[in-house]
Amino acid sequence: MNIKDLENLKDGQQVIELTGWVDNIRDHGGLTFVDLRDFTGLIQLVFDKSGDVDTKLKNEFYISINGSFKKRDEALINDKILFGDYEIEVTDLIIINQSKTLPFQIEDSIETDENIRLKYRYLDLRRQPMKVNIMARSNTFKSIRSIMNQLNIFEIDTPTLIKSTPEGAKDFLVPSRKSPSNFYALPQSPQMYKQLFMMSGFPNYYQIAKCYRDEDSRKDRQPEFTQLDLEFSDASPELVKSKVEEIVKFVFSDAYDCKIKTPFNTLTYEEAINFYGTDKPDLRIEEKIFDITDIFTETSINFLNDILSSQGSIKALHTKELLTRKQIDDLDTEIKELGSNGLGWFKIEDTTISGPLAKLLNDNEKSKLLSYGPGTLLFQAGIIKEIANYLDVIRRTVFQPLNNDVYSFVWIEDFPFFEVEDGELQPSHHPFTSPKSNEIFKDDPTNATALHYDLVLNGVELGSGSQRINNPEIQNLVLEKWGLSKEQISERFGWFIEALSYGTPVHAGFAIGIDRLIAEVLNQPSIRDVIPFPKTQSGLDPLTNAPANIEEEVLEEYNLKYINKDE
Ligand code: ASP
Repeated sequence: MNIKDLENLKDGQQVIELTGWVDNIRDHGGLTFVDLRDFTGLIQLVFDKSGDVDTKLKNEFYISINGSFKKRDEALINDKILFGDYEIEVTDLIIINQSKTLPFQIEDSIETDENIRLKYRYLDLRRQPMKVNIMARSNTFKSIRSIMNQLNIFEIDTPTLIKSTPEGAKDFLVPSRKSPSNFYALPQSPQMYKQLFMMSGFPNYYQIAKCYRDEDSRKDRQPEFTQLDLEFSDASPELVKSKVEEIVKFVFSDAYDCKIKTPFNTLTYEEAINFYGTDKPDLRIEEKIFDITDIFTETSINFLNDILSSQGSIKALHTKELLTRKQIDDLDTEIKELGSNGLGWFKIEDTTISGPLAKLLNDNEKSKLLSYGPGTLLFQAGIIKEIANYLDVIRRTVFQPLNNDVYSFVWIEDFPFFEVEDGELQPSHHPFTSPKSNEIFKDDPTNATALHYDLVLNGVELGSGSQRINNPEIQNLVLEKWGLSKEQISERFGWFIEALSYGTPVHAGFAIGIDRLIAEVLNQPSIRDVIPFPKTQSGLDPLTNAPANIEEEVLEEYNLKYINKDE
């Protein structure tokens, strides 16, 4: 029997073998009240002539009771909780298991350090807010499977001991004992395998897949995360996007009772950068970046002149309220820390313009700036790609979403094929993505765009996908332009190019970050709060102490040994 089942009982009926945890004990001189908690709810137990019950029991003891289900006296009814109008008069008590003193209380809001919560995650998960999160996760999986079945998409699994799938991160490696000195990699995603399913003749595929990426512990990322991975044969980006919209709409409604509007908005990568300064724009914020380059073509502000003569532009945001000096200084510090030369600004009042650069303005510039109306004009000057990030930070700091309770989805497409990271070309998605035009890619790969689309929700990247290359020569070319030598291509991807060479259908796919989706809908600050057993920001598991040292004799079997073990 569980607490929810008590709903079927009438006043005075017997309760047999109800089990649960002691949530709270209150002694009222002769009467002891105990809140009993199980997965389904909470009920008050009353121990009459309780003797030493209050000293025998402690919080989180696991007990079993018999008793009778009784309506509470009118004055003691608490209609804020389930069973606030009933209690159980206990006749028999069995302590099934005791509990040590708890490292923290099992309460809704606690201030405990996250490392301690993760060390005792099984206790943390007893807390109601965590239970809600994990149940939302379970419901999300259930809804995904339900819509996949409705859409006739096949759930097929893929191996996790593999060679390597580049997704822009480092691999987690697994040494092979049977083949000493050799390593498997854990999949950064099932990318190549899901493409192989299309080559094998399956019309579609999905998997709730674990992915492993050894990334720097910046942002809210986990080394191990879960994605809904999809692939469709004979498919175009349009088909994939409409399937994703249908899936997301269903899951939001089925698992979260949230109605969302489809089709989603679309922006090109260029529009996103120009208007929002990021390829993950939060469209709940109305204000957009605009260009004020034309105002300054004859400026006597030297640094602006220099920037304009080296193909730069001037991009601005306008707040209707006048910002305080402190707000301006804080923003200036924030973007300088990210690499900006500083915040440019003008305060515009009815007929006057102030700010450090105001005295250098000519009449024409002044009248154009005045036309924006009272407020503060904030600007950055330079090459748009270099200043976009600062503009994004300014926009998100200065403006608030019009409405926090909406889900604002937007597709971003037409990404550049390659981006430059630390001086090296990296595919902006992955190297299996089809260029938009093979001709342009052949002539000028650094200026080619990709058939790659991202889905962004309220400023957070929810997923990515692309049309795949289905031609072995183009695949080879992309790897070559990426900078791989013939030997590297053959060693790392030879088997995949070979597989593409036997009549490969056109295919395309997508992957949605499930942890991210749940955290967004539940408005959780971190994806760690919706993952049952996450790692810390630095990739550690305080519960099991993974990752851990391995004994030297064991390493020998893998032909491995420590160098500088204690470093
Ligand atoms: N494998 C890609 C990723 O994990 C998704 C895709 O292209 O389907 O981001």
